[in-house]
Formats: sequence, structure tokens, C-alpha cells
Amino acid sequence: MQTHTKEDQNVKTCPKCKSKIVLEFIYGMSTPDEAAKLDSNKYIPMGCIMPPNPHRWFCKKCSHEWGVLIS
Ligand SMILES: [Zn+2]
Repeated sequence: MQTHTKEDQNVKTCPKCKSKIVLEFIYGMSTPDEAAKLDSNKYIPMGCIMPPNPHRWFCKKCSHEWGVLIS
């Protein structure tokens, strides 16, 4: 079960190691310029090619990926 509270969206916590150093995958960056504007402490630009099952969150501490991308 997933809960979707306001707090949950603002502060992500890794379900595996409880780290709060969690980045969000961003898909569909068309130019390197756009990607460069992203805060690299918060986002990971993934380019235009979507994987079959894209994840939304990435833990910088343990490299765990989870979540479903909402398009
Ligand atoms: Zn983690």
C-alpha cells in the first residue's frame, strides 16, 4: 500500500535504507541545456528514451530504485 500525503511528496525516504538522499528521475529532457538546469542533488536527467518500466526515485546512498513514474 502506498500513501500519498503532502509530506510524502516533499520528503522522500528510501524504503530500503531510510536515507533521505533521494533523487527523482526526469525523463524526456530534449536538450542538454534543459538537463543542466536541473538541480543534480534532486534530479537525474534520463534523456528521451523511456525504459519499459521506469522508476521514479533513486536512493543515492544504496542505489535502490523504486516508485512508478507518473506521466
Ligand atoms: Zn537507500
